Amino acid sequence: MTGYNGKSVFKGIAIGKITVYKRKSVSVKSYTVSDCEAELERFYSAKEQAVSQLDELYSLAMNEVGGEDAAIFMIHMMMMEDFSFISSIEHLISDGYFNAEYAVSVTGQSFYDMFRNMDDPYMQARSADVKDITTRLLDILSGIKEQEISSDEPAIILADELTPSETVRLAKGNIIAFATTGGSASSHTAILARSMKMPAVMGVPFEITPELNGKRAVIDGYDGVIYIDPDDAFIAYMLRKQAMEENKYALLLEYKGRENITADGRKVDIFANIGRMPEVDDAVYNDAGGIGLFRSEFIYLGKETFPTEDELFTVYRTAAEKMQGKEVVIRTLDVGADRRMRYYGLPEERNPALGCRGIRYLLKRPDIFKTQLKAIYRAAAFGKVSVLYPMVSTVVDVGRIRKINEETVAELRADGIPIGEVRQGILIETPSAVIISDLLIQNADFLSIGTNDLAQYTMVMDRENVLMNDFFDPINISLFRMIKMVIDNAHRYRKKVTVCGEMAADTSLTKIFLAMGIDGLSVTPSEILPLRKEVCATDVGSISQETLQQLWN
Ligand code: PEP
Ligand code: MG
Repeated sequence: MTGYNGKSVFKGIAIGKITVYKRKSVSVKSYTVSDCEAELERFYSAKEQAVSQLDELYSLAMNEVGGEDAAIFMIHMMMMEDFSFISSIEHLISDGYFNAEYAVSVTGQSFYDMFRNMDDPYMQARSADVKDITTRLLDILSGIKEQEISSDEPAIILADELTPSETVRLAKGNIIAFATTGGSASSHTAILARSMKMPAVMGVPFEITPELNGKRAVIDGYDGVIYIDPDDAFIAYMLRKQAMEENKYALLLEYKGRENITADGRKVDIFANIGRMPEVDDAVYNDAGGIGLFRSEFIYLGKETFPTEDELFTVYRTAAEKMQGKEVVIRTLDVGADRRMRYYGLPEERNPALGCRGIRYLLKRPDIFKTQLKAIYRAAAFGKVSVLYPMVSTVVDVGRIRKINEETVAELRADGIPIGEVRQGILIETPSAVIISDLLIQNADFLSIGTNDLAQYTMVMDRENVLMNDFFDPINISLFRMIKMVIDNAHRYRKKVTVCGEMAADTSLTKIFLAMGIDGLSVTPSEILPLRKEVCATDVGSISQETLQQLWN
């Protein structure tokens, strides 16, 4: 048996026979056409056929995964009508006298490269969508029918890459899981796999050969591994693991509807961290007490220009309404460092992580800041909406934020637009913010500790750098001392503190957080019930002072 590690896309276990899938590729030849009009017609008719195929796929996806994710095929239809995509093809045919296949292939490749070379991982992942529509057009032009992906018995697909349209057709073909060498966890293929609840591993470094066809395999989506040729004992072990995981989840469901209350009666908030609208439903399903961190930048990524106030308002209002009166904490646009889009107009910086990030960017762009704030204040008329400012490091920052808030509210009032009350929160993620947290809290309603960035800025360790893994200590005393300092400072002013970095979900740390007096933890929706279980099982009073003393002595 051989095991290969990749990126898990959906947690689940699948056991089946391998079907190697290789997309029939069209070898595109370039030739000169004499009748450009006829060639253009050939292209337009292929495009029409492609759009009608996409329309069918959209209906199929609506049944399989519902509207939100089926929209992927709407996006494909829009890409198919994209002005620069179409005019590049038209130009190659009518001015270059090239055949339609060549024009589509060259244009598709240049759009693919353009997306692939973007800095933002979300945009990079869109290159797979470009490939999907290009392949569709080329297949139609070359008379290749859509390839069946099916099996008589439950099968696991191995492929170099799966396009979104291939993925949505998998469930119909008795395919229970897949592993690909390419692909990213933020691709539409991955998003669809999650919605279809299909165990999948992507980015697996293996060579796919036809000999693998028919071999037994196991996909362990919990650990992100595919095992090829496992023996019976290993299959039995995996079946036990599958039963255990299912059992664990069933047990967790028992915790739905329960309070987050420790064995000795202390209540804490457990909120959800989200980045995309569908995750609001996950938060509701997993019984979140609210949204503790709405990473709002994800609405801005994947666009070619800033979203309008109305677009933002619609998203925030929907989230607030879905949460039915529970708090929704919207973090203002946190760009810079690894989150960059061309239209942000960020300058090249020698040290972007120490540069124009988070609130600093918005303070430099009050127009963008106000647009977002207006949408937030308007949404607050429809639910309990709060705002959280990232990367604050001085009291001066807070004064400038307050001034822009005052101007925003005055403008909305002058226009007679209904607004609601918006609680003001500061994200503590720089050592400076920790040290002045007693001053910051006097200018805010609540604090939230972003331990992901706080750890990187405290330890001076780039959070994206895998080489740092050997040096990073999860029970980091400096970090815990800082967290305690923030909690104590906020409590002096009777205000609340939440931890919203990844550490919040680590149940081995829950006792320490509770003993330090944390008021809330905000985690990925799927971590809410495991965390609630841990909270309910903890007797805070009995946590030995010795445990805590270790952090200070
Ligand atoms: C953090 O830094 O801990 C945080 C919550 O923000 P992000 O991970 O989005 O930077
Ligand atoms: Mg952060």
